Amino acid sequence: MPGRVPSRPGFGRLLAVLVRAAAGVISATGLALDHSALAGEPTRATAAALAGDKAATTFSLTLSKGVTAEVFTLADPYRVIVDLPEVAFGLPAGAGKGGRGLVSAFRYGLLAEDKARVVLDTAGPVRIGKAEWIAAKDGQTVRLDIVLVPTDARSFGDGTGAARAAEQAASRPSLFEDAVPGAAPEGASGPGGMAGEAPPGDKAPRAKPVVMIDPGHGGIDPGAVGTSNVLEKNVVLAVASELKAALAATGRYDVRMTRAKDVFISLDERLSRSAAARADLFLSIHADSIDAKAVAKAIRGATVYTLSERASDEQARLMAEKENASDLVAGLPAANREGPGEVRNILIDLMKRETSNFSAEFSRVLVGKLAKSISMARDPQRSAAFKVLKQTGSPSVLIELGYMSNAEDEKLMTSPAWQKQVAASITGAVDTYFSRRTSRAP
Ligand code: ZN
Repeated sequence: MPGRVPSRPGFGRLLAVLVRAAAGVISATGLALDHSALAGEPTRATAAALAGDKAATTFSLTLSKGVTAEVFTLADPYRVIVDLPEVAFGLPAGAGKGGRGLVSAFRYGLLAEDKARVVLDTAGPVRIGKAEWIAAKDGQTVRLDIVLVPTDARSFGDGTGAARAAEQAASRPSLFEDAVPGAAPEGASGPGGMAGEAPPGDKAPRAKPVVMIDPGHGGIDPGAVGTSNVLEKNVVLAVASELKAALAATGRYDVRMTRAKDVFISLDERLSRSAAARADLFLSIHADSIDAKAVAKAIRGATVYTLSERASDEQARLMAEKENASDLVAGLPAANREGPGEVRNILIDLMKRETSNFSAEFSRVLVGKLAKSISMARDPQRSAAFKVLKQTGSPSVLIELGYMSNAEDEKLMTSPAWQKQVAASITGAVDTYFSRRTSRAP
């Protein structure tokens, strides 16, 4: 850094820890570790641990260098949020799954291109007792220690992060503006470019139908966690990438993706990327999971969902509820979320009958194709109020590839051969669907 006198490598300097209790926000301005050897390297998170008990629980995150962290609490449900600049997480598989003391579980990942987040779930209201940076003796790493202590729901009100949530809601676009690296014109970003943005001259008639692939979850939101800690967000991105390649190889489609890397995208953002691209078909890709261990062994296979006001069955309703909670998992403030009631109310207004019919038709074709190549759930064609399917003009389906809670399914879903096979089946369905639509056109 120009004009800055480097201190001895590895020698930490504690700058400040600001506590803004009124706003419920603690800004822990990090240790500046002027370690010239590390300059320019991305910050890595190498370890995370929980210690203590229900009287006081410490969450520790070890990083390769000091950064500016913001720690705050949110209610409904009770959570502690740790916001960091871009951090590469190299934590062992399964980290965060088990809880300790006041923390029931934690998760981590990118919230946007240059923002990382850790979300700690707490069973009840907690207060941030202390947040500090501690430099390791060897100077190679720094550790952020956050001490949580229990509080009652009433006192929690003082530090719910309500002010913080309002602040975030107000500045919300900035949360995502960096999440669109493909803001360059389509084509300029190359075949691997993130899609979803409207190409220039989008009003012009298009030679090829636009297919928008939507890999579920990402970044801070891992989705379902498999029996051997495989994460849904990774499985669905792998399948989506295979599908993108398979569809592009036909030369018949303009293929886009709502995300092409491990980053969090809100459900609203997925919808607006699809709308901006005026997608002719929207394919959301997920992998299911059930909690009941007793039946997890027996329940497996793929399901294709379309949007409906009323769920086709109770299981479908629960599934939609789980997938709709993605924004909640990522710790977005409640102001950015919609309750299921609101989703229901605007659903019918927004849905065009035609779009709905096309979605149902594609779903039928897709179930037929998939059934020939992979195992399907008992009732593979279902419907529920999935928020991400609430497209105004694009026929859309949500594919649950299989069950992460079933060891057999989990193993298959991570197999590149299986992923290619599924991509080929979906491509076959897309071909059939569009060839029928073309042949019916006047
Ligand atoms: Zn999912």
